[in-house]
Amino acid sequence: MVTIQTATGPIDTADLGFTLMHEHVRVGWGPMFQQYPSMFPKDKDLAQAVERLKAAKAAGVTTIVDLTPIDLGRDVTLIADAARLSGMQIIVPTGFYYSIPFGFFIRDAKDMTDLMVRDITEGVDTTGIRANVIKCATETEMHAVNEKVLRASAQAHRQTGVPICTHTHPASRTGLDQQRVFKDEGCDLGRIVIGHSDDSDDIGYLETIIQNGSYCGMDRFGLSQPRTSEQRAEMVAKLVEKGYADRITLSHDSCCCFHWAPEEMLKSFAPNWRMTHIPQDIVPMLRGYGVSDANITQMTTGNPRRLFEMNQPY
Ligand SMILES: [Zn+2]
Repeated sequence: MVTIQTATGPIDTADLGFTLMHEHVRVGWGPMFQQYPSMFPKDKDLAQAVERLKAAKAAGVTTIVDLTPIDLGRDVTLIADAARLSGMQIIVPTGFYYSIPFGFFIRDAKDMTDLMVRDITEGVDTTGIRANVIKCATETEMHAVNEKVLRASAQAHRQTGVPICTHTHPASRTGLDQQRVFKDEGCDLGRIVIGHSDDSDDIGYLETIIQNGSYCGMDRFGLSQPRTSEQRAEMVAKLVEKGYADRITLSHDSCCCFHWAPEEMLKSFAPNWRMTHIPQDIVPMLRGYGVSDANITQMTTGNPRRLFEMNQPY
């Protein structure tokens, strides 16, 4: 039995079940939440999150991994309330987006590592809510400042054993840059998910990520750019056919509350960008592409469990 932390307390990894590996309860710009709370009423966001999480639960999802970085408005008490009121198991993140936040700019990189380790081992601030996954990101280029954040994240990973799940820009093949830095930091690449890999149309790139040992996070189902859901599913099927079902995780990167764009814009731009899209639409689509139920279970249940079970520091 392996115990890990969720927003509402410890669980046995056997109880993770159908897990979406890259989602968000609420994403925005932290300073706006802090200084303009009346523009972003928390009770309204909570109600919307609970409604959407309940819908995902009814569709068969039992766990979501929230990958909101600290500097994109992560709010662990909101996440915990949403988990409690919806019944969804939610894994809480720590980590920073692709640049060093201003508050750490003239500090040692170790200070970022120490904060992440504290989030994981003791809890976020005084909430007692413990993170169990590290998020980090690389956009079109892995510049020196980004590399520093990745190295700090790698150190926190090794000190705690919780998995790293990343954001990448696959058209720039930055997943490979991340792997190089993580390997240089002594990380086991088999404990790392290279995220947004389904934005790629280059199967050679994805095979290289897998052959280097990591998981491909096929985690943007429902976003129609740069790939449609059909194209994303077809790529998953091709990788499964090559024998890689044990190296793929599935998700949407969707948000219960997304404050980067007006809600109406999202409705027309990405109508399927919701946490029910995979269980309701993508699973049947994968079957249509010839993926077996055993392989679907492996990607949605087996792989997340294995990732979270490798939870020893090293
Ligand atoms: Zn995301």
